[in-house]
Amino acid sequence: MMNTIKQIAKNKCPNCNNGKVFKEGSFFLSFSFIKMHEYCSHCKFKFEKEPGYFFGAMFVNYALTVGEGIVTYLVAHQFFDKTFDLRIIPIISFVIMVLCFVNIRLSRMIWIYMFKNYSL
Ligand SMILES: [Zn+2]
Repeated sequence: MMNTIKQIAKNKCPNCNNGKVFKEGSFFLSFSFIKMHEYCSHCKFKFEKEPGYFFGAMFVNYALTVGEGIVTYLVAHQFFDKTFDLRIIPIISFVIMVLCFVNIRLSRMIWIYMFKNYSL
């Protein structure tokens, strides 16, 4: 499990753990449009198995975003007197907007790893 999380964080191919999925070196510090390799440069594993394959990654992205929103709320509400202060909402919005670039790449990586053993 920890090895899989490491491979996801390192942007490695789920099949051979050598090739890169995204053209960027690290997807944690990338604020540009997604640039993915179509095939793994090492083992020729096809990342997008069919048209619309990454549609399901949208649900992973949603789960990540909700989780980050909850964690941000739990951290931010420590600094306010009321349990639910409305000033927390812009803080949550800001965090979610900053992390959206990471989330979209991370959700695709998780999606690829979830279905790496299925072939069409
Ligand atoms: Zn590979």
